[in-house]
Amino acid sequence: MSYDTIILGAGWAGSVAAKELTSKGHSVLVLEARDRVGGRAKTWQGEGGAKIDVGCSWIHGYREGNPAKKIAKSLGVEAHLPKPAEGLVYGPDGPLPKEKVAALRSCLSAAQASFKLPYPAPQPSASLASALLSSDSPLFKPSSPSSDPATTDVSSTSPANPSEVTSSASSGDVDKTLAEGLARTLEIPLGLKLEKASLKWAGWETTTSFAGSDAAPEGGYEALVNKVLESSKAKVELNKIADSIKKTESGVTVHTSDGSSYEARTVISTIPLGVLKTLSREFFSPALPERLQEAIAGTHVGFLEKLLLQYPTAWWPNASTIGSYTFLPTSSSQPTENSSIEEIFDGSSLVMANFAAPSLPNPSPTLLTYLSETPAKLLLKQDPAEVVKAYHAFLVKRLKPSTTPPQPEKYNLTNWLTDEYSYGATTTPSIVSQNGERSPLDFKELGRPVWEGKLGFAGEHTEMEHRGSVAGAVVSGFREADRVDRLLELLKE
Ligand SMILES: Cc1cc2nc3c(=O)[nH]c(=O)nc-3n(C[C@H](O)[C@H](O)[C@H](O)COP(=O)(O)OP(=O)(O)OC[C@H]3O[C@@H](n4cnc5c(N)ncnc54)[C@H](O)[C@@H]3O)c2cc1C
Repeated sequence: MSYDTIILGAGWAGSVAAKELTSKGHSVLVLEARDRVGGRAKTWQGEGGAKIDVGCSWIHGYREGNPAKKIAKSLGVEAHLPKPAEGLVYGPDGPLPKEKVAALRSCLSAAQASFKLPYPAPQPSASLASALLSSDSPLFKPSSPSSDPATTDVSSTSPANPSEVTSSASSGDVDKTLAEGLARTLEIPLGLKLEKASLKWAGWETTTSFAGSDAAPEGGYEALVNKVLESSKAKVELNKIADSIKKTESGVTVHTSDGSSYEARTVISTIPLGVLKTLSREFFSPALPERLQEAIAGTHVGFLEKLLLQYPTAWWPNASTIGSYTFLPTSSSQPTENSSIEEIFDGSSLVMANFAAPSLPNPSPTLLTYLSETPAKLLLKQDPAEVVKAYHAFLVKRLKPSTTPPQPEKYNLTNWLTDEYSYGATTTPSIVSQNGERSPLDFKELGRPVWEGKLGFAGEHTEMEHRGSVAGAVVSGFREADRVDRLLELLKE
């Protein structure tokens, strides 16, 4: 049988495209390499019915127009905006006083604001680190004191957006080591080290991406993507790894690694950028245009891993009120390949969300720590059980409970980096380049169809305005479905 469209990948982008195209009367086959639907939407099931997302977890910009909100609503899935909860920041000697945290956050906010879309444009080889961490950076300069430092809002460090920095108060000296430690938490949402992020394009995306309020879909993101696909009329085949796509007289043929082949008039690939980078030139026949191949090779897939520890009881301080804990490094040297697991944790900026806090429904005695590039890369080389043991010891050392806490009863350490169907977390903002080869236009390039429109591309990596997010994947699914719908109509004529 020949289909109107074959969609490769049953993540957000593929599921949305499948639903849209079938709703317009087209026949669609979805081929998914994994044994499940959802892709980078994946929900961990813990003890006591805990469901915690280990891939995407938040509908960013929930009240600000994220299209995932409308989809969730239309499928009867509720999404919860977390109740505000305070965030604690730990320095080497324990929790920092509120005023000190406010001052540090204020400096970081000022520095971020001053390096947003810098003009005149810096050299493309300049990194965010070169400005943010320079000795004359606003990061290290106390800004004018607020009339009431006690009112400074640190509640925005809820698990919803643990790295968001909003504050207006500041006074006194700035501790440079602490300030840099806090600035390094930006590496979590960026997905890369400050040294690799382009200064020229710093903050470029924040002008268009969905931001403000964040909400978590009830039951987790994976179930929501499943509902999207179930509500479509597409045929879905799991465990089908596309291993070549050929243009033919009548359209396209997709071959899968189990020896099957499928025909269609058009195909939409939602294969993630990390995987596209690993494919041979022969995967697409005829080969993709050189310019597109260069964009695939030159754009960057970032790091973000999650470490979950579930305990029998919530033993950590203020478990019922604190939304997140930020641990600034106790050591000034950045961890290296030779560091022990303990040294990796000691030398990293870590943000940990507390799921025992009643900010979301169904609290669970679970701690979720976001790992940015440096700790993620190093820890994934270690035995996960040893990582968990060392992290538990780290938590006891930093949080100093008055009695001996229980051991974790369940854990999960994600590994998106070597997952053969993602090879990384998501695309990152534009990286530094010698002559300006890299720019946000790369993401437009990655979404341009080829083969007279018969081979299209969707996925978070193909959306210039919303790359790296669920919103990007969803918008790309709508975009490609709309384009292919028009093409199919033309082909019928
Ligand atoms: C740890 C983490 C946290 C995140 N947090 C958030 C968040 O809170 N909010 C947010 O908006 N975004 C978040 N994101 C980003 C978000 O998860 C992604 O942008 C989005 O899920 C990408 O959807 P997609 O459809 O483009 O790709 P995917 O979900 O990766 O779907 C692509 C599909 O293609 C399949 N595939 C790959 N190769 C083949 C092949 N050869 N043949 C057939 N199928 C193939 C894959 O198995 C996969 O199912 C996070 C991502 C990570 C990793």
